[in-house]
Amino acid sequence: MPTTLACLLAITLGYILLCVVAPFRTCRLCNGLGFALRTDRRGRPTRGRPCRRCHGNGRHLRTGRRAYELAARIHHHATPHLRKGPR
Ligand SMILES: [Zn+2]
Repeated sequence: MPTTLACLLAITLGYILLCVVAPFRTCRLCNGLGFALRTDRRGRPTRGRPCRRCHGNGRHLRTGRRAYELAARIHHHATPHLRKGPR
């Protein structure tokens, strides 16, 4: 099944490219608002509590980008010549 393999490779490369170009995605819980929408006594929408999931940012680091940054941090801390300061 070379076609299936090519499809999986294309999807993976597309996701990697997406993580490079746009590392943040909008929060699914608050739809990018950063807070919950409540209605006041007149029925108008007002600002509610800050979002627990994105801590009020409205944006999330993508899972692939988070994995890459974790790997890069581990590599950085494990490689002596990349650290600043005296050796
Ligand atoms: Zn949120």
